[in-house]
Amino acid sequence: MSCRIFCIANQKGGVGKTTTTVNLAAGLALVGQRVLVVDLDPQGNATMGSGIDKRALPASVYDVLLESSSVAEARQRSDKGGYDVLAANRELAGAEVELVALEQRNLRLRQALKAVQDDYDFVLIDCPPSLSLLTLNGLCSAHGVLVPMQCEYFALEGLSDLVNTIKQVHANLNRELQVIGLLRVMFDPRITLQQQVSDQLKAHFGDKVFDTVIPRNVRLAEAPSYGQAGVVFDPQSKGAQAYVAFARELVDRVAKLR
Ligand code: ADP
Ligand code: MG
Repeated sequence: MSCRIFCIANQKGGVGKTTTTVNLAAGLALVGQRVLVVDLDPQGNATMGSGIDKRALPASVYDVLLESSSVAEARQRSDKGGYDVLAANRELAGAEVELVALEQRNLRLRQALKAVQDDYDFVLIDCPPSLSLLTLNGLCSAHGVLVPMQCEYFALEGLSDLVNTIKQVHANLNRELQVIGLLRVMFDPRITLQQQVSDQLKAHFGDKVFDTVIPRNVRLAEAPSYGQAGVVFDPQSKGAQAYVAFARELVDRVAKLR
């Protein structure tokens, strides 16, 4: 199987992008996939949540974007997670400014990832909560986008900006890019509104909505402070099991895309 590169994107903050990236990575590793997580958010939450100290990085995605390091040199291992990480910290916020002056500024990550594609079945790019030059580098590198979303009142409205950006990138910069699917996260079936929004989503996006639903589960929220994905921290928890189920669903869906 050739490497699939997916962005986990949603321009809203706090919607579960990083939780999805880290737990999907650990879930995919658990079912035998070789995974690289690329942390494209200067907050470095995917880095810390994988057990890597963002304050002590020998090299990071920043160095890769500015071509002072290759991915092979900069990547680190999340031992507990069973996947590799191209880490990030605050330094990455500066890349945004430095990149503007450079040639092919959208394509830096894409170029860099080419050299390691044979090492992985999946590359998961955790995007920042904006449609910035960093996110653009992610979208230009990827075959597809996974969109985590909470089933709230304005959820559909918020999606249109992202969908438009994906269309633009598809039209102008990356013909391969497509929305792979929408993942309902932090779901509470007892809340009628969430059920209604979930139904609307399915009516609107059809089978682009993943079957797996990630429940709201406190173990998923606790895990990052132990430097672990919830999937590793408490494998029996409802949240962990949902993410492993999602990893399986994604492997199946990707096999059908070919
Ligand atoms: P983003 O990366 O989009 O900003 P995060 O993944 O950091 O979002 O999630 C935002 C907050 O919600 C975090 O505190 C995280 O631990 C929590 N969270 C995410 N998913 C769940 C879930 N399924 N159940 C409970 N808490 C969650
Ligand atoms: Mg995040």
